Amino acid sequence: MFRFLEKELELLKESSLYRQLPGPLEEFNGSRAIINGQEVLLFSSNNYLGMSHHPRVKAATLEAVERWGTGSGGSRLTTGNFVLHRQLEERIARFKSTEDAIVFSSGYLANLGVISALVGQGDLVLSDELNHASIIDGCRLSRATVKVFRHKDVAHLKDILLAERNSYRRCLIVTDGVFSMDGDIAPLPQLLQLAEEFQSLLMVDDAHATGVLGKRGAGTVEHFGLENKNIIQVGTLSKALGSEGGYVAGNVILIDYLRNRARSFIFSTALSPPIVAAAIAALDVLEEELYLLDQLHANVRQFYKGLKELGFEVLPTESAIIPLMVGESHRTLALSSALAEKGVFVPAIRPPTVPEGTSRLRITVMATHKPEDIQRALEAFLWAGKRVGLI
Ligand code: PMP
Repeated sequence: MFRFLEKELELLKESSLYRQLPGPLEEFNGSRAIINGQEVLLFSSNNYLGMSHHPRVKAATLEAVERWGTGSGGSRLTTGNFVLHRQLEERIARFKSTEDAIVFSSGYLANLGVISALVGQGDLVLSDELNHASIIDGCRLSRATVKVFRHKDVAHLKDILLAERNSYRRCLIVTDGVFSMDGDIAPLPQLLQLAEEFQSLLMVDDAHATGVLGKRGAGTVEHFGLENKNIIQVGTLSKALGSEGGYVAGNVILIDYLRNRARSFIFSTALSPPIVAAAIAALDVLEEELYLLDQLHANVRQFYKGLKELGFEVLPTESAIIPLMVGESHRTLALSSALAEKGVFVPAIRPPTVPEGTSRLRITVMATHKPEDIQRALEAFLWAGKRVGLI
């Protein structure tokens, strides 16, 4: 019965696209882990600020377990609606400077929920070609017509709007804020201008911009100093905020509508209280310890410069993500394995996550990396790069 699946797996193996879970983390302190008994430095985590191990975040989580227990036991609209959930939503709204916010069980579910609630048959979604898989899946689920515009190409987007906008009821323009595999930033001001000109909604997924961009780490809207209250800001609590869960921040009507119409909100159990407490504490820490942002960006600059000096092809980055381009999948895997031998953990990113021929290492830097960690990693990159013939 399952022979056809086995055949597909064999094909994946032949083309170096087979995926296996990496060696599990036996110990973990945010930027270091023990894998297969060996201590490794992580240069691939989205825990950009090291919040998952911040003493205040851990303490708040433990306190919440004592007070509220573990699971929430129900969806928000039934018995899973705790005081903490509302506190978190208010806290996110303050952070994002929006009227209100709604929390989902993950960023993935937030994207599915918001897109499928806002548009449907007879509507149009315009989506950047490098948008995250959860946006793509949200678009598919919505059953709206989806047109993909070239990466950050505002002129292409305008052409599509001119040709298509009038044939549809609603139109949603959707983009990642920071692109997850390339680390670059969406041209949000220009997208907003087009959204206004063509009476379209604008949604930005700030999963990798939250806690990274903007003076307070509030993301791309803050980075560009945009005041518009109609931008729909989606994000996740699972990256720089070191917890779990997704959110949508926006105006009161939008959020009220999502509570009524976003199926991934309505039909999924509410986040567990300790996870919510962790996210609230992380937002407090971010507000009070802004130096973490400076530390993160200083580390990114140091690492980026070091890789360039070694002769690697790295894409210019504006975030905490440094894409090191390799090209072929098998060579990317070889580079990742060589780095692992030297105690540096950076998994290979291959199609379909990135376009064919653009396999890469997606290096991420954290505020909690020490200068000596970066030095040690660069030495490993020098050795591994030579070994696979990249430099
Ligand atoms: N959007 C983007 C841009 C992401 O990179 C991710 C996570 N990889 C998500 C959404 C999904 O967030 P979560 O992991 O919280 O489901």
